[in-house]
Amino acid sequence: MSMPDAMPLPGVGEELKQAKEIEDAEKYSFMATVTKAPKKIQFADDMQEFSRFPTKTGRRSLSRSISQSSTDSYSSAASYTDSSDDEVSPREKQQTNSKGSSTFCVKNIKQAEFGRREIEIAEQDMSALISLRKRAQGEKPLAGAKIVGCTHITAQTAVLIETLCALGAQCRWSACNIYSTQNEVAAALAEAGVAVFAWKGESEDDFWWCIDRCVNMDGWQANMILDDGGDLTHWVYKKYPNVFKKIRGIVEESVTGVHRLYQLSKAGKLCVPAMNVNDSVTKQKFDNLYCCRESILDGLKRTTDVMFGGKQVVVCGYGEVGKGCCAALKALGAIVYITEIDPICALQACMDGFRVVKLNEVIRQVDVVITCTGNKNVVTREHLDRMKNSCIVCNMGHSNTEIDVTSLRTPELTWERVRSQVDHVIWPDGKRVVLLAEGRLLNLSCSTVPTFVLSITATTQALALIELYNAPEGRYKQDVYLLPKKMDEYVASLHLPSFDAHLTELTDDQAKYLGLNKNGPFKPNYYRY
Ligand code: NAD
Repeated sequence: MSMPDAMPLPGVGEELKQAKEIEDAEKYSFMATVTKAPKKIQFADDMQEFSRFPTKTGRRSLSRSISQSSTDSYSSAASYTDSSDDEVSPREKQQTNSKGSSTFCVKNIKQAEFGRREIEIAEQDMSALISLRKRAQGEKPLAGAKIVGCTHITAQTAVLIETLCALGAQCRWSACNIYSTQNEVAAALAEAGVAVFAWKGESEDDFWWCIDRCVNMDGWQANMILDDGGDLTHWVYKKYPNVFKKIRGIVEESVTGVHRLYQLSKAGKLCVPAMNVNDSVTKQKFDNLYCCRESILDGLKRTTDVMFGGKQVVVCGYGEVGKGCCAALKALGAIVYITEIDPICALQACMDGFRVVKLNEVIRQVDVVITCTGNKNVVTREHLDRMKNSCIVCNMGHSNTEIDVTSLRTPELTWERVRSQVDHVIWPDGKRVVLLAEGRLLNLSCSTVPTFVLSITATTQALALIELYNAPEGRYKQDVYLLPKKMDEYVASLHLPSFDAHLTELTDDQAKYLGLNKNGPFKPNYYRY
């Protein structure tokens, strides 16, 4: 869903320069928690660590924020419920949950029980969030927080939303993507009392109506925003600018949404502090690299049943996403070629054993083409014309810009839908190119994404919300901030127990030698991991 009157996006490098990285972990109420942690990682039931820290309200508590725009977010998007069971628009239906509340609009509230099981499955791989809930059993770091959210509505985001509620927040939620809502999960949230307005297959009008229902309510005014793609933030700016008087902060995860925030900041129009979760290490490294390493093969297998051993694959872009895809393809015995514009990434590809080529050099011979550049028109009509019969073409990078799909919508080419998300584009001589998800993100459209990776992002968002909500006045100005490294380290540490991983502790002598605090942060901000 693109934002109406979308603003031009600034360059990423410029944005990052603007971001305020805050070095001093002690400045953060939440991070103080981490700093004072005992020598080894504390896990779920250690309530003490949290209860030592006062919140802005002066109480001693665990005071304390998932997401991407319609086309550029990464979550388990598949709904297992057939939405064709009921053709009546949810907006036309009168539904109530078992407690008599009708403050929601979902496809079918009767699917709640099934959705609850989906949420329970996701919870099993999201132990860091469950651990946050346990720590907050007595104290509520988000007490008084009224969070309006716009993210994918899936089992994984449901775990986040319910965690925020367990931490004391009231939540009103809509979907950032018209296709990705798991209807049964939305029903389960509505049954649990969350004001959720979302269903799979919303029209554009429905999309904005749902957002509006979340923001525009008598007697309830949001004081925090959790956005994925910037549409919600934009709506509030456009329709309800007064709401910002009460908003303490915006947490935004997506590339697109973050670009929009920097644009606002640059224009001097950002009127509240915002956290850029997209550029935190825990998002970049895990969401991009590991998530794509896990999901590329799933998406390709589900759609095409292709065997990779010995197949020739060209991957455009050897950044985080490209590296993840290549690692998975190589492991299955594919012959992988890389295209790159950046000599450093190209050299990395060489050192990893891949041939770096120009797309033109291999386009006639490859079996699969995968784009991962974040760029546009990387695969052009000319490339598509030269591909061999049955070549598979797909995108793992930026929304739907990387493959010039529009150039394929010409009268001489025939489109044949052969499966869900699989089109054969047929040339006059009978050659077929297999286009997946019409050039949109393969893993978002055709596979699920590992819950564990989403847990890392969700935990980062939860902590960002907690931090912004509880920060004393003046700590954050009307600007866009990156999460402090200490917080990234804390998110990682919350996930280590899942692997029974044991961290080595610095000795006093070693800490002095390296000039580090024994409790971190362990790397300078410029460290690249
Ligand atoms: P990155 O910047 O680390 O990597 C992109 C690489 O592409 C860079 O090395 C760049 O030099 C190269 N490149 C740019 N233009 C090129 C061109 N014309 N030909 C060849 N190479 C080119 O970024 P990243 O973290 O790998 O993310 C890439 C894209 O994937 C972004 O749009 C990001 O939003 C998206 N993404 C997708 C998923 C997913 O689940 N599918 C997850 C995270 C990010």
